[in-house]
Order: sequence, then structure tokens, then C-alpha cells
Amino acid sequence: MLPMVALVGRPNVGKSTLFNAFTRTRDALVHDEPGVTRDRHYGICRLDEERPFVLVDTGGMAGEDEGLSGATQRQARAGAEEADVILFVVDGREGPAGLDHEILSWLRRIDKPVLLVINKTDGVNEENALADFASFGLSDVIAVSASHRRGLDDVLDAVMERL
Ligand code: GDP
Ligand code: MG
Repeated sequence: MLPMVALVGRPNVGKSTLFNAFTRTRDALVHDEPGVTRDRHYGICRLDEERPFVLVDTGGMAGEDEGLSGATQRQARAGAEEADVILFVVDGREGPAGLDHEILSWLRRIDKPVLLVINKTDGVNEENALADFASFGLSDVIAVSASHRRGLDDVLDAVMERL
């Protein structure tokens, strides 16, 4: 069985864009409206030919102004619970949001390696983006731009170290 890596994060941070970049498919739906991915999507990342892994894109559903809906939370948690490594994706342009803290608090209770992936750092000061999320207290932090395919190798290296 291939190891499994889960993308977890609030809607619209770029999970599906990352999924597509790593799996080189257009499997996951990417959309300007938050919450287009409705359930879990699985793909295989073969960017490191010798060590492929299964990537899981966990969903966000429409109409989630107030918080993560029950169904979405279940998807994200199920994805996280079956994974060997969790990629916690946040938006480096918007900085920390309430929902990020909600997710962080339940990720803390899962005893698995969590890599904080700060996405959308194209055109922003990377140092500032990193500093914004320092309070999350996660030691493994990587700034990326999924849409510019920047930082993907760093994520891959960090994942490989923990598989
Ligand atoms: P998801 O809801 O977390 O799956 O987010 P999506 O992958 O659907 O992306 C949400 C929006 O963010 C889309 O409009 C993407 O084009 C945009 N996006 C994703 N990654 C990046 C990035 O690295 N930089 C910028 N500027 N936009 C991005
Ligand atoms: Mg999505």
C-alpha cells in the first residue's frame, strides 16, 4: 500500500490547486468560489518517481460563512485520520483566519506529522507571511505558491522525510 498524505484547510486556500500540481491532474475541482470540492479526492503523486504516495484532497462545502459544516469537518477529519502526513494549507495573503484556528485545534489532537503549507505567497513578502503564522506553533512551515508551482519541491522533501 502507498503511504497517504492529506491536504487539510479551510475553503479557498488552494488545496485543490496543490492537489492538481502534485498529481498533475485536473481531478480536483478548482474554482474561484470557496468550497467547490465536495468530498475527498484521491490521486497519486509521482513527482518523486521512486516514492509515490496517495494524496487526498479534503473538501469544503458551499455556504460556510459561520464555520466548517458538519459534513466538511467529517471529510477533513476522515482524510486526516487515514493519512500518514498532513499538509495543513493556509492562505499567506489573508493571514490566519478563525477557521484556521479551529482546524489547528483538532489537528493538535491527532498524533501525526503536520506540515504547515502557507500558500499564495506569490507577490507577498514571504517573511511577513511566515511571521503571521508563527503563533500556530508548528515547527515545519513551508511557503509556497501552488499556482506558480513554487515551493513544491520543498513540500515534497518535507513529506519524504516523514514517510
Ligand atoms: P480550495 O478550496 O482550498 O481547494 O482552493 P482552490 O484550489 O479551489 O483555490 C481557490 C482559489 O485560490 C482559486 O481561485 C485559485 O486559483 C487560487 N489559488 C490557488 N493557489 C494559489 C496561489 O498559489 N496563488 C494565488 N495567487 N492564487 C491561488
Ligand atoms: Mg478544493
